[in-house]
Amino acid sequence: MNVMSPERSSELVERLEQQLPEMLEHTVALCEVNSGSDNRVGIETVNRLLENLFEPVSDVTEYRPLASVRQVVERSGTDSELGECLEVPSASMLLFRCRPDAPLQFLFTGHSDTVFPLTSDFQRCWREGNHLHGPGTADMKGGLVVLAYALKQLEWWLPESMKHLFGFTLAISPDEETGSLASGPELIKLAQNAHIGLTYEPALPDGSLAGARKGSGNFTLLAKGVGGHAGRDFFNSKNALVAMAEVAVALSRLSDEQQGISVNIGRLVGGDAVNKVPDQALCRFNVRVLDSMQQAAMEQAIQVCLAEVGQRTGCAFELHGGFNRPPKPMSKGQQALFELAQQAGESLGLNLSQQPTGGCCEGNNLASAGLVNLDTLGVRGYGIHTTAEYACIDSFVERAALSALLIEKVIQAHRAGRLPCLRTNP
Ligand SMILES: [Zn+2]
Repeated sequence: MNVMSPERSSELVERLEQQLPEMLEHTVALCEVNSGSDNRVGIETVNRLLENLFEPVSDVTEYRPLASVRQVVERSGTDSELGECLEVPSASMLLFRCRPDAPLQFLFTGHSDTVFPLTSDFQRCWREGNHLHGPGTADMKGGLVVLAYALKQLEWWLPESMKHLFGFTLAISPDEETGSLASGPELIKLAQNAHIGLTYEPALPDGSLAGARKGSGNFTLLAKGVGGHAGRDFFNSKNALVAMAEVAVALSRLSDEQQGISVNIGRLVGGDAVNKVPDQALCRFNVRVLDSMQQAAMEQAIQVCLAEVGQRTGCAFELHGGFNRPPKPMSKGQQALFELAQQAGESLGLNLSQQPTGGCCEGNNLASAGLVNLDTLGVRGYGIHTTAEYACIDSFVERAALSALLIEKVIQAHRAGRLPCLRTNP
């Protein structure tokens, strides 16, 4: 076995430190192009910058078209009604491949979109001490830069005999921030053909990695009643907004802190003038669960709620959406991979820990295809999804070195047959 000498890892860190200005330059360039999930042009521009970053470390670049996504719109007017379903086209997924025939295949994943729309006033980057502020610096354009430089270093660092043992696919999704609805099925297919997954979401602010992740589902519920004049027809009408309010309260009460189940009513829309009985209403909600048993139980409980309120109020309900991120519980395989990351961290003087989180990401999708994966290998960052977002500058070198060492350790463990948890037959 190739035991890591302290000199060897400090040489790696030294080389990466020389490249830090370049890494920051790439990150700023990526972050100053707006790529909110709805900004297709921006996402395509970011993808071209990513081609410059990853083509030197891969053999093949591919744009894979994704299926359109069904969205329930909520504007009233002449174009569409509240609750009309539209098919919205998706941007493509960007793929890079290297040595696809090698015996050990990694699936790296990341996303080019951010939560900040074109109208956001958070569009530029600036430095303040150790902080690089800007949209996507932590989540997760900075993480993609970390991966590119880790791969670059591995080209130099690994002996030829080891390089040929591993290959990879890097999949960059355009829609992670909206739940990977279009890229999710593609990620599952890719995961089925890989042995191990590494995702470049930001590490938690203290540097620890995410362990178990909850599962998450996004739902849109439509209520249809019978409208009418509030004076003349009130008792012959069925108020869809009131029925929806009742459902919202009932759904919210399915939350259970002890069990780790939450139902968040995020949006309620409906109604117009006070002299009209609303004939339709819309509710968007999010459900989080710890495991697949809870997921099945909640799917059933939601239906029971709808049937009960529907019967009482005479309003009809139509449920859209579902669990788009299945739970990612800790498994033996997950634990084994984390321990390798810990060993890689030790040679850099890091004491890595992991924490369960209610947050979800592509790691959930990969896990649902049975792929063991670590999903917070990006930069250390703070304030993600807010205009306070920043990446810690000293984490770029640290995390790129961590990834390079982790990949080396996985190759070594695989070669020595010490990772029985990894799929040997993708
Ligand atoms: Zn992210």
